[in-house]
Amino acid sequence: MEWDAIVIGAGLAGLVATAEIADAGKKVLLLDQEPEASFGGQAWWSFGGLFLIDSPEQRRMGIKDSKELAWQDWLGTAGFDRLEDEDVWAKKWARAYVDFAAGEKREWLTKMGVRFFPVVGWAERGGYLAEGHGNSVPRFHIVWGTGPGIVEPFEKRVREHMKSGLVDYRPRHRVNKLLTENGAVVGVDGDILVPSDAARGERSSREIADSFSCRGRSVLVSSGGIGGNHELIRKNWPKRLGDPPTSMLSGVPEHVDGRMLGITEEAGGRIVNKDRMWHYTEGIKNWSSVWKEHGIRILPGPSSLWFDAKGQRFPAPNFPGFDTLGTLEEIRKTGYDYSWFILTQKIIEKEFALSGSEQNPDLTGKSIKKVLSRVLPGAPAPVQAFMDKGEDFIVANNLAELVEGMNNLTGDHLLDLKTIERQITARDREIENKFTKDLQITAIRGARNYIGDKLIRVAPPHKILDTKNGPLIAVRLNIVSRKTLGGLQTDLSGRVLNQAGEVVPGLYAAGEASGFGGGGLHGYRAMEGTFLGGCLFSGRIAGRAIAGVSEGTGQAALLNNGHQEESHV
Ligand SMILES: Cc1cc2nc3c(=O)[nH]c(=O)nc-3n(C[C@H](O)[C@H](O)[C@H](O)COP(=O)(O)OP(=O)(O)OC[C@H]3O[C@@H](n4cnc5c(N)ncnc54)[C@H](O)[C@@H]3O)c2cc1C
Repeated sequence: MEWDAIVIGAGLAGLVATAEIADAGKKVLLLDQEPEASFGGQAWWSFGGLFLIDSPEQRRMGIKDSKELAWQDWLGTAGFDRLEDEDVWAKKWARAYVDFAAGEKREWLTKMGVRFFPVVGWAERGGYLAEGHGNSVPRFHIVWGTGPGIVEPFEKRVREHMKSGLVDYRPRHRVNKLLTENGAVVGVDGDILVPSDAARGERSSREIADSFSCRGRSVLVSSGGIGGNHELIRKNWPKRLGDPPTSMLSGVPEHVDGRMLGITEEAGGRIVNKDRMWHYTEGIKNWSSVWKEHGIRILPGPSSLWFDAKGQRFPAPNFPGFDTLGTLEEIRKTGYDYSWFILTQKIIEKEFALSGSEQNPDLTGKSIKKVLSRVLPGAPAPVQAFMDKGEDFIVANNLAELVEGMNNLTGDHLLDLKTIERQITARDREIENKFTKDLQITAIRGARNYIGDKLIRVAPPHKILDTKNGPLIAVRLNIVSRKTLGGLQTDLSGRVLNQAGEVVPGLYAAGEASGFGGGGLHGYRAMEGTFLGGCLFSGRIAGRAIAGVSEGTGQAALLNNGHQEESHV
């Protein structure tokens, strides 16, 4: 049998594309190496943060956003500098994505039942000049129901098509090869892996039970990035970020293995921007790990003091939540893989959130009552659990005890009490005036001008060493792997290009495998919430192109895009 389309990967991008193709009455074979328990891929684990521009939620919070401002921010963040080659499609995709995030995206989702938490988050705050990195305004919209809430409508559509016979979903089918004839991709070969009762996200066996081979008119690669494969991360690690870390946590399940990218290269697809990746610097070891070296990212408010492994405060603007890769670069310069937050009980209660659906049971479970309890005194339950059981946390009643605990935790004994005390005391002196030269304090005060931050995200400025704000807390921060910013180079219809820039007939890519579109629509850095959004956008485009209903995409979008470039760049 020949399928209209074979989709490799049942993550968010694959599900969106499958739903769109089957909606057009076409037959889809949906393959995934993992058991059905992991349906939805990484997106299920995600926090469900989505980048939207000039939304009703922003307006209600007094935020004035616009497409022009967002595009200015995108360009400053992306820093596209390979426009003749690797960035040529990436920048076009970026422009089209910003249009989508300012236009159809929200309505398309709300029509499928997606709802948003009313307080918009402010991720990647930048800290440079107007044309530099970061979001000028809060744009991180949390889906009500977090990751599972964004997977749900697409899973529903795909499962309905499974019932009607348009979609044949085959878990435990691992693709090993793309079949080609006269340069065109015409099908896939692979292994059928033995059945597995691994729970969602857990490692599943790679034992082979049988093999399979299938033909399709189109093949879509939506197999995710390389975040679970530390070997590939180290191999592609960019020089500008120093040496790759020797120890790193994994922010994604092991199935994010990057293997399918090499397989697609063998079939003629071109991967660009391999050296662009997005890893977090505020990783803590999960005390209740689901996958190997399971790291959780702290989504920090701006008040914690950030020290390197030797106890020196990082220079401005390396404040929590300002510039992820800027801080990663600073950390790599130290020669150590970890850094430290020092903070107070007051800060942790208001400013620590943890990324991931399972770390936010109130939002994931859509419980208004539990969400409201976030404003009550005390750390949120998942944060408290880390304070009690996490190996990276130290709680102490005075600085001497805290620093001793920090030195004992790593065994490196690099921290000198007097040096740390001097820096914190100096910072605390700056709190007494409404003036300051400490840019972190200016940033905290600026953040509190935003009602959302003032309500639930940023503690009133206070002295760290004043015992009434204690106890003191130190957190060892590890590097945690996550996203792949480069990927298969695609045109605006999601068609994969070869080394000569020509379309590989029959081959499409979407989601993280395609650098979320074009081989890297983020450029060097991201503004956050753009990964799930990138899966929605690139999955929809590729799906519609495969189905032959490419309204608003493909060539039309290219022309449209070219037109807008003139007025915006
Ligand atoms: C904890 C966490 C929090 C996050 N929070 C956010 C957030 O708030 N906002 C945001 O924008 N992004 C967030 N992300 C990132 C986002 O979830 C991912 O980038 C996105 O879901 C990737 O989707 P995908 O469909 O491209 O790939 P994946 O979800 O990785 O799916 C790919 C699928 O392909 C399968 N596969 C791979 N190779 C093969 C093969 N050879 N044969 C068969 N099958 C194969 C895999 O098993 C997998 O199921 C988060 C991610 C995590 C893990």
